[in-house]
Amino acid sequence: MNHILSDRINNLATSQTLAMAALARELKAQGKDIISLSLGEPDFNTPDFIKEAVKKAVDENYSTYSPVEGYLELREAICRKFKRDNGLDYKPTQIVVSTGAKQSLYNIAQVMLNDGDEVILPAPYWVSYFEIVKLSGGVPVEVPTSVETDFKMTPEQLEAAITPKTKMMWFSSPCNPSGSVYSREELTALAKVLEKHPNIYVVSDEIYEHINFSGTFCSIGSIPGMLDKTITINGVAKAFAMTGYRIGYIGAPEFIAKACTKIQGQVTSGANSVAQRATITAVDADPSVLNHMVQAFHTRRDLVVGLLKEIPGVKINVPEGAFYVFPDVSSFFGKTLKGHEIKDANDVSMYLLAEANVATVTGDAFGNPNCIRFSYATSDDILKEALRRIKEALTA
Ligand code: PMP
Ligand code: GLU
Repeated sequence: MNHILSDRINNLATSQTLAMAALARELKAQGKDIISLSLGEPDFNTPDFIKEAVKKAVDENYSTYSPVEGYLELREAICRKFKRDNGLDYKPTQIVVSTGAKQSLYNIAQVMLNDGDEVILPAPYWVSYFEIVKLSGGVPVEVPTSVETDFKMTPEQLEAAITPKTKMMWFSSPCNPSGSVYSREELTALAKVLEKHPNIYVVSDEIYEHINFSGTFCSIGSIPGMLDKTITINGVAKAFAMTGYRIGYIGAPEFIAKACTKIQGQVTSGANSVAQRATITAVDADPSVLNHMVQAFHTRRDLVVGLLKEIPGVKINVPEGAFYVFPDVSSFFGKTLKGHEIKDANDVSMYLLAEANVATVTGDAFGNPNCIRFSYATSDDILKEALRRIKEALTA
């Protein structure tokens, strides 16, 4: 019946992170002992002080529609956060609160892109960038990077990818899926290239900002000359273990923020009222309240990287942030493992699901066909068991 559906939806790929998570869930329900490392979501509970704010908001009857762009008190708190953590000067009129950072990204694509506008995506990129850009008429332009260069785009690569049709560049730092964190120097070098192309806007997705072991964090918007052409995306899902609350936000030039509010007003209205009130408490908190979670992710990063390094044929970078590893498994291509012919990263991922009962996501989904991604946002014991199974399957 697909011919009844729009070309738009027929041309849209299913989110492979969500599809793999659903498949793992289904296999588990059938009684299989699956370890799912497919979905990136913290395994911690939302901190108690935020839960208290939720309860208070319910009791105070925050139950009606909120302003489309978000409560003023929340937008003021987000401005304080941007100033405190990122050195970014935004006014509340430059902030739009949405139903997750995913909607923030979608709003941006919808309000910025005309058919044929090119969007540079350093690859690997987060899975939904490519499809959101396409869905909005844009043309994703992938800039490939590799494990050898810590999956970072160089200024030369950026320069070479720019054409008269380039409208935007989208990236995440810390990066989902590679965990790479761009330093201030690296971002300054990219900004220098963009200086020559004043009409190119940047989407800086900073949702993993606090899950960062590098000791430094830089928002590209804080580099002189960049604020007026940067859309800074953030949210509470990852750092505050609030994935289900569905709150993301942007800081952007006012005309872009206004446009996002306009589209949101026709599509979803303001984000969930109670979740917005809880987010005021979250973004006003000192980031040190997250230390226990960040420390746990750091320890697990070391554990997983150490165990992966023991598997012959697996190449990895040392991710400096987020909670993913993105090993290059291309040395297995062309081999037959336990009767499974391995042609590409998708085959590796499906092989690990079938033979090791471990769910991962193919790097294809992130624009890198040599790698697979898995999330280490789960307990040390589960990670050890998963890596034991992966090692056994890949050394078969
Ligand atoms: N950007 C990146 C890089 C992500 O990993 C995610 C994870 N879902 C999002 C955006 C979307 O976040 P949210 O859950 O707030 O929609
Ligand atoms: N960001 C997470 C991931 O990459 C959640 C899944 C999603 O929203 O696609 O796994």
